[in-house]
Amino acid sequence: MGVKVNNVLDKHTLEEVNVKNGYHGDFICKTKNCNADMIFVREHEKRRLEKTIFVPSFFKLKSNKNQHDENCSFNTKGIMKVIARNSDSNILKSLDENKYEFSLQILHKPAKKSSSIEPTTDNENYNNTPTKRKTTQYVNKGTASSYIKTLKSILELRAKIEEENELASIITLKYNSKKIYWNKFFFNHTRYIEAYKLNQNSPIKYPICIHGKVSKVIKKNDKFKFDKIKLHNPYIELLSKITEMPSIELLISSEDVELDKFKNDTEILIYGQAQFSTSQLWTPLEEREQEEPKKVRFLKIELWINYNEQIMLL
Ligand SMILES: [Zn+2]
Repeated sequence: MGVKVNNVLDKHTLEEVNVKNGYHGDFICKTKNCNADMIFVREHEKRRLEKTIFVPSFFKLKSNKNQHDENCSFNTKGIMKVIARNSDSNILKSLDENKYEFSLQILHKPAKKSSSIEPTTDNENYNNTPTKRKTTQYVNKGTASSYIKTLKSILELRAKIEEENELASIITLKYNSKKIYWNKFFFNHTRYIEAYKLNQNSPIKYPICIHGKVSKVIKKNDKFKFDKIKLHNPYIELLSKITEMPSIELLISSEDVELDKFKNDTEILIYGQAQFSTSQLWTPLEEREQEEPKKVRFLKIELWINYNEQIMLL
């Protein structure tokens, strides 16, 4: 098993071949002493449910029989070994046969000595005011950042892997000893509504990961005393009387988050415990003059950002 590669060697001339001109020929991995047979995969579109996803060209292992050398940096198992070696075993546990278990944890706001009022990530009925919680178990800052470092390495690997579902065969996600499927944990903009519906109906509230682009930053004001980062919504046409539309907001309670970094269209990954709610019906401007205006109901997904590291810039 391997990751997608942009450069390989021509098997006969041993010249380096780039993904942009690697259409024909026999190729091998460019890592010294690896020599795994590779093939070129042309850019293509992939249909997933109703959506079409563009996949740029890459090289991959020629077949399941070909493997990268154990020490090759394109070997998935090797990369996982390195990630596990650099992680706390309570976070990423090594199981038998190169398999791993990643435990999902809620990253509560660290306790401050002088204040008993802290926003929490798992308060489902917040009303612009954080609630007091006395029984919360706080994760200390060191644990949170090493936790997120491991998560980030895993997500980086996920993005590079030849077959996305390969990761699911290596890493099992666990939350309080319950297995969480990857497709119920990781959501990009094509699956925001799915994220809402899946998690809203789920009996257990576990942290999720969201991939998206920044739409705007809303500074704290009289109405809401935390800064917010809004993500772009996917384009959804108003076809019926009421259209459901996702709305994702990050509620910033960490003072370490530098808002200037989050310009429009910045691509980010967010990890955290989400709260789900629906908005009142809203009439878009262009519909207000219509006899029967079409309306929108926002499916709101809000994540408290208690640690700077919960948002990863891509
Ligand atoms: Zn290799």
